[in-house]
Formats: sequence, structure tokens, C-alpha cells
Amino acid sequence: MYNQKKTKIVATVGPATSEKSVLENIIREGVNVIRINFSHGSHEDHEKIIAKVREINKEKQIHTAILADLQGPKIRIGEIKGGTVEVNEGSEILFSNEEMVGDEKAVYMSYESFAQDVKMGERILIDDGKLALEIIHTDKKGKVKARFLNGGKLSSNKGVNLPNTKISLPCLTEKDLKDLKFALKLGVEWVGLSFVRNARDLIELKHLIRAEGKSARVIAKIEKPEAIDDIDEIIEETDAIMVARGDLGVEVPMEKVPLLQKEIVRKCLRAAKPVIIATQMMESMITNISPTRAEVNDVANAVLDGADAVMLSAETSVGKYPVQVIQAMSKIILQIEETEGIYHHEFPPEMDVEERFISDSICYNACRLSLRTDAKAIVTMTHSGYTAFKISSFRPKAGIFAFTGNHDLLNKLSLVWGVQGFYYDKFVSTDHTIADIKYLLKKNNFLKEKDLIINIASMPINEKGQSNMLKLSYVE
Ligand code: PGA
Ligand code: MN
Repeated sequence: MYNQKKTKIVATVGPATSEKSVLENIIREGVNVIRINFSHGSHEDHEKIIAKVREINKEKQIHTAILADLQGPKIRIGEIKGGTVEVNEGSEILFSNEEMVGDEKAVYMSYESFAQDVKMGERILIDDGKLALEIIHTDKKGKVKARFLNGGKLSSNKGVNLPNTKISLPCLTEKDLKDLKFALKLGVEWVGLSFVRNARDLIELKHLIRAEGKSARVIAKIEKPEAIDDIDEIIEETDAIMVARGDLGVEVPMEKVPLLQKEIVRKCLRAAKPVIIATQMMESMITNISPTRAEVNDVANAVLDGADAVMLSAETSVGKYPVQVIQAMSKIILQIEETEGIYHHEFPPEMDVEERFISDSICYNACRLSLRTDAKAIVTMTHSGYTAFKISSFRPKAGIFAFTGNHDLLNKLSLVWGVQGFYYDKFVSTDHTIADIKYLLKKNNFLKEKDLIINIASMPINEKGQSNMLKLSYVE
């Protein structure tokens, strides 16, 4: 069961994809990472889904990863009488930190120190920016008055964005801490954090993961202007990035998102950190059997930009066509991957700056060599995964095969562009291992006789040091 595409697909699961047979189908059609959105559903639901994915992995001998996506400091309004009320441009409303059933005059906001943190003139955006308000007064204790800049519907529990406000909420709320503990207990491979504001948020999350004795890696969701300002440090601190266009396009003017997407992808490639493009990629397929032409272009452009993965949210969690949307997405990806233009980005490692100069140079030159010789595979034997991430970042056209005895790493690699992971624990001698791996890849139809293959390794093999060796040979 090997999908030839290199760009990975992250699919959010929900009621539309909770049956094991549906999960099996979306994975077969190209899903590499299953995303659990902790903003919805119960721990019990999540646990069931994770168990099913683990079963499928075992049965099909594949390595689908689980991404636990934490809600972070997301702000919401409270309940509205009757679910929805009409509001008019120019009318005023009171936001309170005391729980109540709201209406067009007053509403609860789930943000204790809102009145202390906001300033006059700042914006409040509700329901993905459908309603915009301007703050006209705060009592600095618990009540804030604002004026609607447009009319529309105000509905229960809608999300709130405060693009101008310095929000004092912690990066991990009490709910996040509970969700994190639960997700780590189930051994999720990736943990996403919403509304990251700076690199310290990631340091805190990584610290909590380590304190639980786990090796899960972290994804910084970029959806706040502060995160854009601190993007270099965030990329350095995180293990991966998500361009969370849904909230990002509310928090910064939406027309800025396309270039931000390109810039963030470029920085991530340079840093060898996987990057996911998320939200509304195939939005119309929530209800339609085929995507719009604009959506096809959006997915294609994300692949052209150099994303590691493209993501689906409501399309697969509550949509009518979860399997068809993956089929359509895979088709677009495979088509774009026929273009030479997406391969072989070259960022030569800098001599004195990079700590892993030897290993980085081996990875870089393995990719160049594969281009010159048309080698079909680059094989790395890795414990930390470092070389797999690095080789992937140079985007070689050759297949990237990562052999590891580290069970914890295998599923994580499913997010990384072009990488296919294999479990392997017989590291006897370099010569023997290389011969054995060639035999395995040929036996499983990844390679055929006369194909050129590049192996990178660390010698001596049993010291598990930096990769320092590169071998080019034919498959026999
Ligand atoms: P969400 O994140 O689906 O958790 O809101 C993605 C986004 O904002 O684009
Ligand atoms: Mn979001």
C-alpha cells in the first residue's frame, strides 16, 4: 500500500469519518496524517478514532500519524437567547466576563481579563470576521462596550478574534492541559498549538511534553499577527508549522495571506521544518461532489510553493464526500508533482555556521548526486530522523526511504514531504545493512534491477553519530 505522491495530506476526522471503513478508505486514497481537532468532540470519541487508526496501521503495515490539535487561547462569545439575534450597524453591545444568556444588547465573552487588556478603538471580530465591532468603552474590570461596524447575525458560541489586542491569556488553557495529557497518554505523534504568539509558547509546550516522558513533536499554528512578527524564532523552536489560513485571514487582512503563505513555506524549507497549508482548500466539497476550479488551483499552488502537506478540515470531518475529496486532492498533487519545477531547491549548508555541517553536506550532496545520476532512491538509516527531514528539505525527485529502529519516529515521518519510513533494527555492519535494504526495497517493488540507489550512513554504524558517508550503487 504505497501512495506515489510526495506531498502529504492531513485530514481532520469527525462524524463523517469516524467509521473504520471510511478511515481505511481515506487513508488508502492518500491521507498520511489524521488530525484530531480538540475544539470539537469528546475524549471518548477521540480515543475510539485513534484506536481505529492504530488498527489500520497494524493491518496494512503503514505508518499513519496522529496530530492532536489543541484549541489554545481561543475566545468565544457565550450563548444567545434563541441561538441567533439580528444586530444592526451602529448599534451598541456590552461584553461581560460574567456568564449569562446573551442578546443583541449584552453577551458573555470567555476571556476573564478582556476589559483590562483592551483599549478604545480596537477591533472585535466575531464569527470569522463576519461581524466587526469597535471598542468604545471599557470599565477595566469586566465590562466592555462596543459598536457594530456592520449588521448581521449574532449566534451562540461563535469564535472571537482580537487582532489589535495584546491578549494576556496563557498559551495553554486549562482545557488544553487536560487535552494534552490525554493525547500524550494515547501516544500521538504530533501536537498542534493554536494561536501561537511567540517562540516561548512552543518552548512551554515542548517542556510539558518532555515532563510527561513523551517524544511527540510540536506544530506551531500561525494565525496571529504576533506570530508573523516572531516567525524566525518560532520556526527555529518548533518542529513544524501550520499556515492556519482560517484565523490568519481574520487576524491580518485576508489579502496578505497568499504572500505570507509563500514566505512561510520558503523559510520552513530553508530550516528543514515541515509546513502544512490549512483551511478551505476544498471547502465546496463539504456539500458538492467536485471542487471549484479556484480550489483546484489553491491546492496546486500550495504544492508548487513547496508545502510538505495540505490539510482538510470540515471537508473530511463533517463533509458529505470525505473519500472523494481525498481522491480529488491526490489527483491534483500527483499532476503537479510531474512538474520539474518543484524539485531540487538548493540551500548549500554554510561551513562554519551549521552545527551539523558534515551531516548536512552529506544530505545536500546526496540530493545533488541523485539529480546528476537519476538515482531512484536516497536511503538513510536514522534514529532521530534528522537526515530524513534534511534530505526532504532539498526536495529530491528520488524517493526518500528512511530506515529506523525507532518506533516512535516512524509515524512522525508521515508528515514529511516525500519520506517513506520503514522499521529496521538489524544494524550489523554498514555493508551488510546496505545490501539488505536494497534487497528489501526491490522485493517490495520500490526499486528494480539496474536502478541507482544512494545510501547515506554514519560510520562506524554502531556509534549512531552524524551521517558522514555516501554510497552510489546499482540494484542487482
Ligand atoms: P482551526 O485552525 O481549524 O483549528 O481554526 C486552522 C485555521 O485557523 O486555519
Ligand atoms: Mn484556527
